[in-house]
Amino acid sequence: MPSTIPKALNDLLISLNGKGYKSYKILQGKSFQYPPFTLRFEHVQGDPYAAPSRLTLSTKLSEIGLASTLYDTPTKKLALEDHLLRVLHKKVLTLKNKIKGSGRSGEISVQPPSQKVILRSGITISNDSLTLILFAGLPGNGRNVLAKECIHLFSEILPSAWEESISEESIDLDQVRNSINTLEDYYALRNALKQNEWVAFIADGSNLPRLSGISDLPLQNNSVAFLAPDELQAEVNLPHKGKVAGMPVPKGITLIVGGGFHGKSTLLNAIQNAIYPHVSGDGRELIATHPSAVKIRAEDGRATQPINISGFMDNLPSVSSTKKFSTQSASGSTSQAINIIEALEADSSLLLMDEDTCATNFMIRDARMQALIENNREPITPLVDRIKELYQDFDISTLLVMGGSGDYFEAANRVIAMDSFRPIEVTQKARQIVKKNPTSRKIEIKFPFPPIKPRSRDLSALNFQRGKKDCVIQTRQLITLVLGQTEIDVRYVEHLVEEGQLEFCGWILKQLKDRQNFTEKQTETVKDILKEIELQGLGSITPYNNGKLALPRYQDVLAVLNRLR
Ligand code: ADP
Ligand code: MG
Repeated sequence: MPSTIPKALNDLLISLNGKGYKSYKILQGKSFQYPPFTLRFEHVQGDPYAAPSRLTLSTKLSEIGLASTLYDTPTKKLALEDHLLRVLHKKVLTLKNKIKGSGRSGEISVQPPSQKVILRSGITISNDSLTLILFAGLPGNGRNVLAKECIHLFSEILPSAWEESISEESIDLDQVRNSINTLEDYYALRNALKQNEWVAFIADGSNLPRLSGISDLPLQNNSVAFLAPDELQAEVNLPHKGKVAGMPVPKGITLIVGGGFHGKSTLLNAIQNAIYPHVSGDGRELIATHPSAVKIRAEDGRATQPINISGFMDNLPSVSSTKKFSTQSASGSTSQAINIIEALEADSSLLLMDEDTCATNFMIRDARMQALIENNREPITPLVDRIKELYQDFDISTLLVMGGSGDYFEAANRVIAMDSFRPIEVTQKARQIVKKNPTSRKIEIKFPFPPIKPRSRDLSALNFQRGKKDCVIQTRQLITLVLGQTEIDVRYVEHLVEEGQLEFCGWILKQLKDRQNFTEKQTETVKDILKEIELQGLGSITPYNNGKLALPRYQDVLAVLNRLR
C-alpha cells in the first residue's frame, strides 16, 4: 500500500487549515481510495474534545491475500474477524502520542477484544469484503483545524498501521489458521459435551488461574497445569488437536470441595468463563461449558418485578404471597432465589455456584438450627432440599463449590476435591462418611417445586428518550446500562464480558419495547430478535454500525432485562 495520502484528501485538509474545527465536517460521508482500502469518514466529531471520529476501512479479502477457504464457514469467519481485530488492536496501541494537538487529537482506537472469541461489529466480513471501524481524533489547535498534523495522521500513521497489521505482507497465515483451528476445536469440544451428556470438560494442561483479580490474562509463572484424576479422566477426539484427555463434568450435581486457597473458585471461574471460546494462548482454549450455564450468586439490593419464588420462600414477614414476589431491594437469600428462577426462565440447564458469593441461609440449614428455629418460623427452603428435585424433575444440573459444609454430600452425584490446585475424586469417600455419620437434619419440603411459568415484565420504565434525543443507549463499564433516563445495574451479571455486549443488550431491549404486543411472550420476542441477528448480523437492529457492539447470550439479555427497576 502506498503510504501517500490521496491527493483529494490532502488538498481538502490544506484548504481547512486554521479554520474552525467544525469545518472538518465536510469530510463526513466522503470516501478516499488507499488501494486496496477505501477509507470513509462515517462520522466527524464536532470538536477535538469530543469522542473521536468514526472511520471505516473496507477492502476485498482477496486483495489482502485471504482466500475464501479461510472464511467459508461461520466458525472460520468468526475466527478470522476476531484474529484481524486483535492484530490491529495490538498495533493501534503502539500509536499513542504520535500526533500533536488539543483534546483527543490523534487518539486512535478500535474495538478492544477481551480474551473471548465473540461476534463483534468492530471488524466484519460480509461476502468477500472486510470492513473495519477505526476511531481517530482529528487534530485541532484549540478549536481550529490543524491540517499539518491531520495530514501526518492520514499520510503516515494510519497507512503504516494497517500496512503493519492487515496488509497481505503482514498477515501471518499460519497464525490465522491457528486461530481458526483453535475455535473449531472448541466447538467440537462443545459438541462432545452434548454427545456425552456432560456439562463441562477441562482438558489436561489447561491453565486456569488468572494474572490477578482484575485481569483475565493467564497467570504465567508458578501456575499448576490442570490434570484430571485417573478415575475421572476421559478422552475426546478433536479435529485439529486430535485425542485430548481431561476431566468431564457429567450432568447432575457436582460438588467441588477442598481446603481454602486450594483452587476451588479458580476451577469454577474457568468453567464459568468457558461458555465462551478463548483465544489461542489463553490457557482455557480446551475448556468448554454448556452454553446455557448461569452463575448464581447472592445479589442483595437488587430489584425484581413480580416473580414466583415460593419454591424457596414462603411466609416472608409482611409479604402477602411469594408467588408474586416483588421488591426494590432483595435480601441475600431472596436475591439468590430470584436468580435461580430467572435462570430457569432463561432455559439454563446448568447452575454454577460458589460458596464465596452465596447466601449461607439459602444454601444450608443444619440440624442444630432446625432444632432451634422451627420450620414454621423459617421462610426459606434451603437449596440443599431442592437441588435433587431440580435435577430429577427439571433436568437442571448444578456445579457447586462448597468447602464449608458436608450437608450436600447426600445430594451429590459426584464430589471432587481440589488439593494444591489438582482435582481428586472423593465421591466414594463422601458416601462412606454419609453412611458412617448420617445427618440428623430433616428435609423440609412441603410441596413440589412449582413449574416455571412465563411472566410479562412491565416495560413502562423502559424509556429511551433523554432531552432532545429519541434514543440514548450508553454503558458505564460492565456496571451500568443507561437507557434514556433509566439506569440498570448489571455489575453482578458475570457472564457479560465486553462492554459491547452490554450496549447491544440495550438495543435488544429497544426492539423488545418497540415490538411488545402483549400476546407473544417476552422471552419469545427476545429469542426472535436474537435469531434475526444471527442471520443478518449485529447491524440489523441498530440505525448504523457504531463499531463497538458484541453479541450477548440469550440468558444475559434476560438477566439485564430482569434488573430493570
Ligand atoms: P479457593 O477457592 O479454594 O479458596 P482460589 O481458587 O481462590 O482458592 O485460589 C487461591 C489462589 O491460588 C488464587 O490466588 C489463585 O489465583 C491461585 N491458583 C488457583 N489455581 C492455581 C493453579 N492451578 N496454579 C497456581 N495458582 C493457582
Ligand atoms: Mg474460593
